[in-house]
This record gives sequence, structure tokens and C-alpha cells, in this order.
Amino acid sequence: MQPKPNIVHLPVYQPGKPIEEVKRELGLSDVIKLASNENPFGASPKAIEAVQRELANISIYPDGAAVDLTNAVAEKLGVTPEQIIFGAGSDEVILMIARAFLLPGDENITADQTFPQYRHNIEIENGVVIEVPLKDGTHDLPAMLAAVTPKTKIVWICNPNNPTGTIVSHEEVDNFLSKVPSSVMVVLDEAYCEYIDDPAFPDGIELMKRYPNLVLLRTFSKIYGLASLRVGYGVGHPDVIRSINQVREPFNTSRVGQAAALAALQDDEFIARCRAANKEGLAMLRAAFERLGLPAFPAYGNFIMVDVKRPAGEVFDAMLRKGVIIRAGHKKYPTHVRITIGSAEQNAKVIAALEEVL
Ligand code: PMP
Repeated sequence: MQPKPNIVHLPVYQPGKPIEEVKRELGLSDVIKLASNENPFGASPKAIEAVQRELANISIYPDGAAVDLTNAVAEKLGVTPEQIIFGAGSDEVILMIARAFLLPGDENITADQTFPQYRHNIEIENGVVIEVPLKDGTHDLPAMLAAVTPKTKIVWICNPNNPTGTIVSHEEVDNFLSKVPSSVMVVLDEAYCEYIDDPAFPDGIELMKRYPNLVLLRTFSKIYGLASLRVGYGVGHPDVIRSINQVREPFNTSRVGQAAALAALQDDEFIARCRAANKEGLAMLRAAFERLGLPAFPAYGNFIMVDVKRPAGEVFDAMLRKGVIIRAGHKKYPTHVRITIGSAEQNAKVIAALEEVL
């Protein structure tokens, strides 16, 4: 049996090493994982209570359209429910966008380097990926605009960019959208937006209301701390959202996930606390990198990318032996590692380990 030729070369997704495996392999009792940009403070207690309540109903299919959650998010964002689509994580929204919009040969513009799931789903749909190098670790929007051709279908912008953590500003995105043909979809992935209070950071909703070709991606996996429940969403023009909805699987988000997200959305205090702690953690790591003479990219989300000035894989292995799992293996950045901002205690541990390793 032959699979589609365009998927033959795709790697099977390799998640970062799980904590339990590292403990077992290296005989360590205390291991922390700062590799997947999860929330070190877990989820809101309100979300956990909602999960416990919803367990009584897990034998019943969920509301596939996630109506209650959609209404709540729409109200919070100041959009209509017809402008929102939920997915099993924003990963699935990326998949659904590719599935609904890409024909074989359609060109897609992405940054190099950026979140790998754009390329993954473009390739599955037989689309063409045009990669535009980052400039100082940041999306080069003028160069991405210059790469647009009559074959361009989607431009994917990751803001802040994973793995570098850098952002493009409201003005830059507005300027880009004003020049790109309206037939080109622009996907703005804002997975980490709730961490950011910088006034230059784009107001995606405001832009989306002016540009019907703009689709935003958001998630409950990061600041809301619900990564394992797989709840993410897209926000866009009702026509675009309807097309995405047409390819959606019937029950793509779970009851438990929807209930948790609905409760998490209402706990502003938890979110504010996580945002403040993240800011302190970023400052702590930045100061440590400065002391160690390690250049880091400006970071806006809950992770920071730093140049350890030696092969990142070696530093990854050495950190692992100290019980700290970080992220290496970024092809464009062979001497950089990406570190998730942890709790104060975890941040102190990662700094101490780096000091010993380097
Ligand atoms: N976009 C970006 C930029 C991400 O970093 C991630 C998570 N690593 C995702 C999307 C996907 O997140 P999820 O599917 O958990 O919503």
C-alpha cells in the first residue's frame, strides 16, 4: 500500500523527552521540563473544578460546535460567535485551514525559522512552502510581501515567533495587510498573546475587523494551562470560519476541554498572576544571560531563546544530566537553546545548571 508521495519524507512527530523517561534513564529524582512552553503554574483551580464536574458526563458526546465556549470567547473578544472556530488545540485549526483552503501547488509563505506545524500541514495538502529568512530573529514582513506571487494562498505569521520569541508590531502587520492582495489569507498565530502587555504588540481583533483575509490563532494551552485538554481556536471573517467549520470533525473538542476552557476564561486573577510571574521570570533569565555573556533574543511570550555559543545539542545533553529539559535542535540556530519561563524556583534551577554546564 502506497501512502501519498508527499508524506513519505515527513518525520513522525518527536515530542520532547518526557520527565519520567529522563528520571528513569539518568537515575535522577528531580527533573524539570522547560521545553514545551507549558504553564509552570498549572491551570486555574476553577478549570480543575470544572473538569471534575464534567467527568460525570464523559460517556456523552460533546457539543461539536462548542456553543457555550464560543459565545463566551466571542463576548470576551468583542466579535460574533460566527467568527470563531474551535479545534483540538490551535494545531488542529492549522490543519483545518490547510485542509479547507489549500489546493496542490498553492504557495504558502512562512518565516524561516518558525513553528513547524505550518509546513507540516502545507506539505500534507501538497502545497508549496516559500520560506523567508527571519531578520535578526524577527519576521521580515517586507521580504514576505515581496515573496507574494499570483500563486500565493496563505501567509503564516507567528507572533511572537516560536522559537525566537520576537514580535512584529501592530503598525508592521497593519502595513503588511494593507499591501497584500485581499485574495491572500494571512494567518496570525497569537498562541502567546495573553502574556504580552507591550503597546506595540498587534491588536489582532482590531486588525481582523478591518481585514477580512486575516485569521487569528489562539490557544488555551499556554497561559490558560490546559495543554493536555487540546483546546485552541481561530478568529476571522464569518465566511472564512464557515469554510473551516465545513472540514471540522464532528466532535473535535472534548466535553472536559470545553468545560475547563470556559471556567479558565473566567479566572482573570489567575491569568494576571501568571502574566506577572512570567514577566519576572523573563527578567531573571535575561539578567542571568547578561551576566554569563550569552546574547538572547528579545522575548515576549513564556520562552526565551539564548545563544549558548556552543553546539546546542551538547548543552541540551549536559542540562539533561542536571535534570533540566530544554529545547535544542533549531536548524537555523545551531548554538541557541529555547527555554520556557518556569516558576521562580525552576528559573533558579535552570540558571544554576547553565552556570555549571557552560
Ligand atoms: N502555535 C504556536 C506558535 C505554538 O508554539 C504552539 C504550541 N507549541 C501551537 C501553535 C499549538 O498549540 P496548541 O495546539 O496546543 O494550541
